[in-house]
Amino acid sequence: MKAVYLTEHGGPEVLQFGDLPDPEPGRGEVRVRLHYAALNHLDIWVRKGWPGLRLRYPHILGADGAGVVDAVGPGVDPAWVGRRVVLNPNIGCGRCDYCRAGLDNMCDRWQLLGETRSGTYAEFVVVPEANVLPVPDGFDLAHAAAAALVFQTAWHSLVTRGGLRPGEWVLVVGASGGVNTASIQIAKLAGATVLVVGSNARKLALARDLGADHLIDRSQTPAWHKEVRRLTGKRGVDVVVDNVGTTFPLSFKAARKGGRILTVGNTGGPVFEIDNRYIFGKHLSVIGSTMSPQKDFRQVMDLVFAGRLRAVVDRVFPLAEARAAHEYLERGQQLGKVVLAIAADA
Ligand code: ZN
Repeated sequence: MKAVYLTEHGGPEVLQFGDLPDPEPGRGEVRVRLHYAALNHLDIWVRKGWPGLRLRYPHILGADGAGVVDAVGPGVDPAWVGRRVVLNPNIGCGRCDYCRAGLDNMCDRWQLLGETRSGTYAEFVVVPEANVLPVPDGFDLAHAAAAALVFQTAWHSLVTRGGLRPGEWVLVVGASGGVNTASIQIAKLAGATVLVVGSNARKLALARDLGADHLIDRSQTPAWHKEVRRLTGKRGVDVVVDNVGTTFPLSFKAARKGGRILTVGNTGGPVFEIDNRYIFGKHLSVIGSTMSPQKDFRQVMDLVFAGRLRAVVDRVFPLAEARAAHEYLERGQQLGKVVLAIAADA
């Protein structure tokens, strides 16, 4: 099969396009002929590598994908063959205490497509049967692929972990990334008032289209926490969605007493300084999570399929141009998701 893979860590130039053997589905697994993959910042972190990450080369990147089931392994209903599906990239073992409690994203033997096993930058991928979800007829597979990781992650963080309630004020730090565009929509659907801090007017226009109530341009207002306090009558927001990380000092200032800071990533880098006095002095809760359990994935994808939430697709590259797609994502000017087209649409 055609695939984009790496044999060493590094910049976008380490992505190679070529032929690798077709994967065969094992017991309980299905093989999906992919039509689209979607990029996530995760792909860049895996490509660059981190201490302790051990990939088996050649390694295929990519967590998000959608396509058509083309083969099933032993123990799987052959009726799956020919069905259009989207992948849940978050794979639990199904047997550990966390999985049995329905918390498969906390699994002791947790796997993630494109990180701990072969991903979606390829014509075929093999996943457990539990990790494919049928896509309704007429729903675009590119948008299904673009939604999977970011919507499950944002839903789990805001709704399940963050306990977001109608009438609350939510600040989203960042306007245009995949998780942020999902978070803005989910917060509006939950009945919250949404503030967005973005780096320029173009990105903020997207946030407004997605339903954001108040926009703050940090290129004009570097001390944006003051504007948040002004807009909330000096109270501060109930919830801050901060997946930048290096912005935590300002997020702590923007939160109300007793507020919650939700985080699922750190696009600004993993290590930064915080002033702990804000956490205890303001009774703040910092709530982290990664991905979501199956239940949240299915719940949020139902809303995506129903058109109540939508993935924002910025640009589609052919699979062979994955390197250019990575360079584009790293420049950070995209509005929403960057997608790879692999086969003709079903
Ligand atoms: Zn498990």
